[in-house]
Parts: sequence; C-alpha cells; structure tokens
Amino acid sequence: MPTPFETPTGHDQHGLYPEATTVEDFQRNLAAVQARIDAACRRAGRDKATVRLLPVSKTKPEASLRLAYAAGCRLLGENKVQEAFGKWTAMQDLDDLQWSVIGHLQTNKAKLVARFASEFQALDSLRVAEALERRLQAEGRSLDVFVQINTSGEASKYGLVPEDAQRFIQELPAFPALRVRGLMTLALFSAEAERVRQCFILLRTLRDQLRQSAPAGIEMDELSMGMSGDFEIAIEEGATVVRVGQAIFGARAMPDSYYWPTETTQMQL
Ligand SMILES: *Cc1c(COP(=O)(O)O)cnc(C)c1O
Repeated sequence: MPTPFETPTGHDQHGLYPEATTVEDFQRNLAAVQARIDAACRRAGRDKATVRLLPVSKTKPEASLRLAYAAGCRLLGENKVQEAFGKWTAMQDLDDLQWSVIGHLQTNKAKLVARFASEFQALDSLRVAEALERRLQAEGRSLDVFVQINTSGEASKYGLVPEDAQRFIQELPAFPALRVRGLMTLALFSAEAERVRQCFILLRTLRDQLRQSAPAGIEMDELSMGMSGDFEIAIEEGATVVRVGQAIFGARAMPDSYYWPTETTQMQL
C-alpha cells in the first residue's frame, strides 16, 4: 500500500559520519538528530514528546561516552553485554547514567545484565526470561524489557518470528521482575526505503494486535525501531524509541558484519 511519505533511508551515509570528539560535537549532533525527529513527528502529525532518543555508544571508548554524558545523555545503548558491563564498571562515578542493552543475550550473561542494566530490548526466548528473572530476584532489581521481533525475515537476525509473538507474550506474567514495555526490531538494512518501511509497519501492526490480547501487567505501548539510517521512516510509522549511534558518535571502526552477520552483503545502494 502506498504511504504519504517519500523519506529515503540514509544508509548511503553509512560509515561516513564524522567522529564526535568534543562536547560541542555531541551537542551539535544531538541537536541535529532531535531536529530531524521533530520534523518527522510534524510530518506524521505526532507529538514529539512521544518519541524517545536512545543514543547508542557501542564500540566507542569510555572517553567518548563521557563527552556524551557531558552533553546531556543519561541513558546509553550498548549491543554487547560484556562491553557494556566493562563501561558501567569504569563509569560508576556517573551515578545517574543508565544503560540499555539492545543486543542478543546468552543465558550465561543474564547475571551481568541483571546487575547493571535498566532496560533490555532484545528479549526473544523464555530461557533468557527465566535466567533474567532469577538473577534480578537475587539482585532485588527489575528491568524494563522489549520483546524483539524479526520483521525482515532474514535468518541472521535475532528475534521471534511475528507468528510466535502472541504465544510468547502469554508466558511473560510468570516473570514479575521483567516490566514488559513493548516491541523492538531491526529493519531490513537496505537503501530501498519502501522495503524498510514495511518492517516498521509490520511491527506496529503486530503491537496493535498484541495489545488486544496482552495479559494483565504486560504493556504493549512501546515500539523501539529505527537507527541512524532509517529513524525518520520509523517515526512516520509509529516508533516511540529510536536507537541512534553513528549520527551522534560518528562512524564505527568495526564493520557491521561484526554485529549483524549478513547485513553488509545485503546492502543494496
Ligand atoms: C548499533 C545498533 C543501533 C544503532 O545503529 P547506528 O547505525 O549506529 O545508528 C541500533 N540498534 C541496535 C540493535 C544496534 O546494535
């Protein structure tokens, strides 16, 4: 179905974002991203207060994270648990800095997430839910959680297939330390904006369906979708959280294949 928007992806920018090396760089980049969020909200007739920007600091050194903090960031997204835990440990002096783990989790690392994270966006198995619940109980903590959905159909992507989401969510009341907020996805990594948009539409449609049948205590309000190359399209389709790394911190030295095994080969620019 045609949409009223013709927003392109920014995936051709990939790898080209200049490195932010001063507080002023971070302030400028944050303001520029926020201005693009506001503009996308205006196009979509949405209140900009309904979209949260989650800056993603993965692969960046502690010094960069401290600059981001000085520029006002109080919640940072990290994809790998070990790396995030190391940064948290090194930055204990910043006691109002919070951490969102946005990448796949193995059960043997649940212990670390339970200790330091305030949010986990990549829940896609009951084994991980169980491991987190047990460790959170032991720590006397709770965790905001997003259920990750594979909306692109790529075998390499983590997340539940959409058809399994309803059954999965019925099980979640068994884990009271997990405060379920909504859904998260990574769209197809493609310069074809219309195909990227379909991933976001799929996530929103699924959220709307799941809302009807979500058990008591399981919230299905949030949609975490969109990153540097596609967050404006995601906002046009209902994103409530956008996860933006490179447009704030600068390009990563690590190739994306390190995070998402087949994506670079599927890029169609
Ligand atoms: C790295 C990452 C992002 C941010 O990607 P950028 O291209 O740096 O904006 C978003 N979501 C997840 C899950 C990531 O791992």
